[in-house]
Amino acid sequence: MSILDTYNGDTMKQTPKRIAIIGSGLVGSLLAIYLKKLGHDITVFDRRPDIRTIEFSGRSINLAMSNRGWRALEQVGVAQEVRQIAIPLDKRAMHVNDKPVYFQKYGKAGEAIWSISRGILNRKMIDMAEAAGAIFIFNEKVWDVDLPTAKIYTGKSEKSKWISYQYDIVFGCDGAFSRVRHKMQRRSRFDYSQDFIDVGYKELTIPPNKDGSHKLDKHSFHIWPRGKFMLIAMPNIDGSFTCTLFLPFEGEVSFEKITNKQEAKHFFKTYFPNVSKEIENLISDFFKNPTSAMVTMKCFPWSYWDKVALVGDSAHAVVPFYGQGMNAGFEDIFMLNEIIHEHGDDWETIFTEYQKKRKPNADAIAELSYRNFVEMSSKTANPKFLLQKKIEKWFADKYPEKWIPVYSRVTFSHQPYAEALAIGDAQEKIMQQILQMPNIEQEWDSPTVEKEMLRLLQG
Ligand SMILES: Cc1cc2nc3c(=O)[nH]c(=O)nc-3n(C[C@H](O)[C@H](O)[C@H](O)COP(=O)(O)OP(=O)(O)OC[C@H]3O[C@@H](n4cnc5c(N)ncnc54)[C@H](O)[C@@H]3O)c2cc1C
Repeated sequence: MSILDTYNGDTMKQTPKRIAIIGSGLVGSLLAIYLKKLGHDITVFDRRPDIRTIEFSGRSINLAMSNRGWRALEQVGVAQEVRQIAIPLDKRAMHVNDKPVYFQKYGKAGEAIWSISRGILNRKMIDMAEAAGAIFIFNEKVWDVDLPTAKIYTGKSEKSKWISYQYDIVFGCDGAFSRVRHKMQRRSRFDYSQDFIDVGYKELTIPPNKDGSHKLDKHSFHIWPRGKFMLIAMPNIDGSFTCTLFLPFEGEVSFEKITNKQEAKHFFKTYFPNVSKEIENLISDFFKNPTSAMVTMKCFPWSYWDKVALVGDSAHAVVPFYGQGMNAGFEDIFMLNEIIHEHGDDWETIFTEYQKKRKPNADAIAELSYRNFVEMSSKTANPKFLLQKKIEKWFADKYPEKWIPVYSRVTFSHQPYAEALAIGDAQEKIMQQILQMPNIEQEWDSPTVEKEMLRLLQG
């Protein structure tokens, strides 16, 4: 009856259940690995074809994997394999017009985020989940879930004849526009909100040099900040870079204003002159690839009795400006596994504890991600803001144990997101007082400022 999960010397016992995971994305496939290790019978459904059989044609978002993601992969022994398809980035490369490129280290020596193609990672995760024994069913869309009985219904269309499958537990890992959540939304006292931002994004590619090498520094996260819009680029293992152009949908400089090749050429030449050698490629991708929207989605509760639970983007979708969406989804699974270890077969308590622990942290990373969007789009050119960042960096270098920047807490630690947000707010309050000091522009690194920072930190 009971199964031994002996990974890492772990002797967890759970009674095997028949579990359906809806969604074979990054979160669904990692959850399948965890649940297989706990001894369950796992079937993963996806409405799309098997991603391993699809050609990406140069279009796949690149993700930054950071400490939270790695910890979740390490727990089930798959991190090593994933590192082979990822590239460490230990700094930002800032491409500011009329200035040489300059570099900003992310954290302490050895700290890095890792660039990885979402599509390639997804293929690898499905391979590893299959190797662990999970069954995948592709091209099968889930249209409905009967929450109290954990029965799912699939079919060709909403109106076609549906097939029903009976499970013990259903996990909704079906992304920001989750069908499983949609069903939960119809219940009384289910909170739900969805906020789109007025900026869209488009994927563009910088191909490798003829010899296969990278055209830009491959250990940097490249950013071309331009106030209301920006371009970023992350390296791929094949020598190319995936760029993402974030641009308002409407307005003076916007997607709606770039309607032909001439306008696109003018746009790239004006705002991104140091990539103008790539212009033909950028323009062709610009018109080939879709413009996508970004949303923050919040909801609660995330579970129904001991039958259904949401994990990953289906429970909390965030805008991508902190690089944490997948990391947060992987951390959901890591925490869920810890809670399973505490409560054994009591799935109702497991789900209650899981949503109680994760919801405040999901809200915190949503807030941090949104603030980063505002910061990037409106504050990066503000001299007071730049001065604040300079003082913080100077002080953090001097007192690394007293001042850990929020970015490092989010990216390079496992501190709960909610705590990182609260500490960040306290630091912000201190900085607003420091910026009021007389002659702060000239005396930003003086002993007086240092003393005041130490005093405020104690209060
Ligand atoms: C531009 C951009 C950049 C990003 N950068 C980062 C980053 O740097 N770092 C980071 O950590 N995160 C990043 N993210 C976020 C990250 O991509 C997501 O958080 C992550 O992919 C969510 O995974 P998921 O498995 O929960 O959902 P998804 O990846 O959306 O997967 C959901 C799966 O469910 C399937 N599905 C949906 N509905 C049904 C149905 N009814 N029946 C059956 N199957 C269904 C879909 O086909 C899909 O395969 C970024 C996102 C964007 C848009």
